[in-house]
Amino acid sequence: MSEQLTEPKVESAAGTRPLLEVRNLVKHFPIKGGLLQLPVAWVKAVDGVSFEINKGETLGLVGESGSGKSTVARTILRLIPPTSGEVLLDGQSVFKASADEMKKLRRDLQIIFQDPYGSLNPRMSVGEIIGEGLVVHGVGSPKQREAAVNRLLEVVGLRGQHRGRFPHEFSGGQRQRIGIARSLTLEPELLVADEPVSALDVSIQSQILLLLQRLQQRHKLAFIFISHDLGVVRYFCQSMAVMYLGRIVETGTIPAIFKEPLHPYTRMLRDASPVPDPKVKVVMLRIEGEVPSAVNPPAGCHFHTRCPHVMPICRNVYPEWRQIDSERGVACHLHTR
Ligand code: SF4
Repeated sequence: MSEQLTEPKVESAAGTRPLLEVRNLVKHFPIKGGLLQLPVAWVKAVDGVSFEINKGETLGLVGESGSGKSTVARTILRLIPPTSGEVLLDGQSVFKASADEMKKLRRDLQIIFQDPYGSLNPRMSVGEIIGEGLVVHGVGSPKQREAAVNRLLEVVGLRGQHRGRFPHEFSGGQRQRIGIARSLTLEPELLVADEPVSALDVSIQSQILLLLQRLQQRHKLAFIFISHDLGVVRYFCQSMAVMYLGRIVETGTIPAIFKEPLHPYTRMLRDASPVPDPKVKVVMLRIEGEVPSAVNPPAGCHFHTRCPHVMPICRNVYPEWRQIDSERGVACHLHTR
């Protein structure tokens, strides 16, 4: 019985070193109990995740709540420590970096949080929030920093005179623009956007997505775009990786996956996502069932409790990763050789 995944890959262009390499990333959280508060069980939030991103590429990391995608993001950024695995940014280890090295790496690796309310310090003015990175890294004189903050505010559709105001004086969409401006301060190469529009009204979502798309194209930024919404990922990304219970179950380019999803879970997500074309009439399906507990995942293929194509082997053997071609990879017994 194999529980071992070989490393799924989103392929990089031949001959170039990927900007980001994630190798067999594992993050288990302890559940503590008893008098001594020792670990009595483990939540396997991320359980052997691997992928690559090139400069300027956009990768969607998708899955339902509880799939582990946000934990992947936080672990890559070292906001939480990994259990094991390796992350390389431009060939340099993120996990082995010293405090000084990490400070330099953070210039290239920034995050946009989901919650535009909780992610901004309410006691700091907008100018201080956006300019903080410049101060920490000793970039420019106070005058130059002020000019940079004004420029960034304009880039995200706000005005220089907003710099003296505080977060509570802005709407949700405006706060997310401030968060985006903050993430751009140090001109990063890679932005991790963790559900950046899911806390916003639908009317504001498209404005923020357009802004992110414009910034991505203008600055050739690489993105890890985390979302449960395949419609958003389809709009924004070039390729995607689908996560289920801490593991990647399918990877591929957006056109290939949307045309013909290989994994039954990806198909389910696709059929439940809205089509961004008012002329196309579709029946949106509901995703049946719940994601099982990551403390005690089902034996064999973790998806077998919800899969309409389940076979006897699925209940006992975790499917090995199969790289179908340069564009596609999948972990499902329907596609084993
Ligand atoms: Fe379904 Fe089996 Fe494929 Fe899992 S391995 S997705 S249960 S067919």
